[in-house]
Amino acid sequence: MPDMNECQICGAPAPPLPGQCEEVTGYRLIRNPWSPTPSFLDGNLHFSCLEASERRGEFFEEFTRMVRAGHEQIDSLDGSPPPLTRTGLGMTQIYAGSECLVFESGVSDRWMVVRRTGPWYRLSHRDLLDISAGRAPHSPADVVPYPLPREPGSGIAEWDLPELLTFLGVADRYAPPDELERAEYEFVDYYAPKRLLDYAVRAPLPLPREAREFLKGYAQEYVPVTFPDENEA
Ligand SMILES: [Zn+2]
Repeated sequence: MPDMNECQICGAPAPPLPGQCEEVTGYRLIRNPWSPTPSFLDGNLHFSCLEASERRGEFFEEFTRMVRAGHEQIDSLDGSPPPLTRTGLGMTQIYAGSECLVFESGVSDRWMVVRRTGPWYRLSHRDLLDISAGRAPHSPADVVPYPLPREPGSGIAEWDLPELLTFLGVADRYAPPDELERAEYEFVDYYAPKRLLDYAVRAPLPLPREAREFLKGYAQEYVPVTFPDENEA
């Protein structure tokens, strides 16, 4: 089994960073187009690897099918019964442009923008208000636990994001340093016995211009659902 903390495309360390590297969880039952044997994706993807991959189209079809789907049966990996069932995000497509699709949730104030090249961005109502006001939407700063592949040595608490990515040898998989500077990275904790780093990062989401323009108009009309947030992707 591949390590879920590594990029499922290139196999290098892949600390999650909204807008640049995200996780596909195994229970979403999305076929892994990069696996030599039939399997479902369970792990992180560098968006730069995704966009550079010849298989990105297969991923896009599978991923957007899951975004639209409610509870559905899907084929098992080897075609044997009984069929598997999964719960998709149940979102409705509200925009299709040359670069991306936009989906909305019918039950909570959530949106998703999916580039035709693969990367996806989750949006909250606050993001929608930011877009409407002409500001860049930022991902929330959730704490991410990430196991490091080797001992970082002292000083990890003082590292910034480019230093962490350089230590992991994957700086070239993420945005260039001048763009990374706009991400608000925060060291939270490091647990040496398990080499487990906890960090939080809030980053501007690089939405396609067409999505920002569409959502700006859409935001004028939108009435919040105001249900509790329970549809985390
Ligand atoms: Zn990669």
